[in-house]
Amino acid sequence: MNFESLDAAERVKDGGGEVILTSLDELTNWARANSLWPLGFGLACCAIEMMTTYASNYDLERFGIFPRNSPRQSDLIIISGTVTFKMADRIKRLYEQMADPKYVISMGSCSNCGGPYWEHGYHVVKGVDRIIPVDVYVPGCPPRPEALLGGIIKLQEKIKGEKFSDVKADS
Ligand code: SF4
Repeated sequence: MNFESLDAAERVKDGGGEVILTSLDELTNWARANSLWPLGFGLACCAIEMMTTYASNYDLERFGIFPRNSPRQSDLIIISGTVTFKMADRIKRLYEQMADPKYVISMGSCSNCGGPYWEHGYHVVKGVDRIIPVDVYVPGCPPRPEALLGGIIKLQEKIKGEKFSDVKADS
């Protein structure tokens, strides 16, 4: 197992091996940030770029990220596409069914603020953050896979700064 990314870890030589001393926060956040389970879910054109990010060229699995098909097994939802009013209730329900602690990435202009439908889209929610909390916004129409990767790395940095005692337990 690779513990190199544990920033505050102290390594102590003990006999022929090495003992790692760290805090519970550091260890928990390291595990959470490096084993995210996103819900296999997409809404519109941005979802095509998200699927490309999962494919071999970009290989999200190297970050320990692999999609799940049930919200109960997921702790990340990537809102990739246009959030219509018809889908808004479904998105909220999926979010509520996810395991705590859970995270949201808003991918693309439509999800961030309504995108091209911002002015005249009577059928579009002008930002998914009106229905669920968002941790990271990824700009673009659509964002390239590199941009989504950047957003995921930002989320990992955010998770690494969390306090174990502040994170809501699964109810
Ligand atoms: Fe499609 Fe652009 Fe909206 Fe993404 S932001 S879903 S690419 S219109």
